[in-house]
Amino acid sequence: MHVILMGAQGSGKGTQAERLAPRLALRHVSTGNLFRAAIASGSDLGLAIKAAYDHGELIADATTVSLVDLELASIAAERAGGGSSRGALFDGFPRTPGQAESLNDLVARRGEAISAVIEIAVPLETLVTRLAGRRVCTTCGRTYHVEFDPPTVAGVCDRCGGEVIQREDDRPDAIARRLDLFFAQTEPLLAYYRGLGLLERVDGDQPVERVTDAIAAALARRDVSAAGEARS
Ligand code: AMP
Repeated sequence: MHVILMGAQGSGKGTQAERLAPRLALRHVSTGNLFRAAIASGSDLGLAIKAAYDHGELIADATTVSLVDLELASIAAERAGGGSSRGALFDGFPRTPGQAESLNDLVARRGEAISAVIEIAVPLETLVTRLAGRRVCTTCGRTYHVEFDPPTVAGVCDRCGGEVIQREDDRPDAIARRLDLFFAQTEPLLAYYRGLGLLERVDGDQPVERVTDAIAAALARRDVSAAGEARS
């Protein structure tokens, strides 16, 4: 059982995935986080993708899909060992038609299914305000907003004391590039999943808790319920 969260950068996918994954017993699979970890570790993959990442470009489908394949294998292995994850909660994947097709193949090959695709809808001007003000802790990943949710001491993480910075890809040029890419490449996927009867649309321009509740309600309508209440 896998669920996809779709929405432009700044729509709150990451925040909602963190809140919902434990509740649904799904593993939060963020390709952006996987790429950031690769860059931070200085691995061959990290070095290969850093320039494209910093400019807000998409990483090649083959590279992205192979990371997701590893995650699905790891979830299946964890389940086989008695672990609690029922599947993946995708955040930031798939982002292109090619990735969507590959994901279909990956899950079909494992005899699994995509249970629902949630669109988190947010107006463009809200996205730009959220992204341009976003700051992130380089140590623990907690996100802040310069205006709406600043750290108590500027530049210092409240949670771990780490350094709070602006991500390279949250600078104005990269923001414009990433939003262009979303509307050109990712938005058509919404129509694709609507055609498959999997799409649910949720208003993402409301308080975080209300968005979480709306997503949980949409998933419950599709028999994806909190862990322990699952019917699928
Ligand atoms: P995110 O944190 O989801 O906004 O992703 C940050 C960056 O990671 C993107 O701007 C891309 O460079 C890369 N990335 C994340 N997910 C994908 C994906 N599914 N396909 C290609 N590139 C991705």
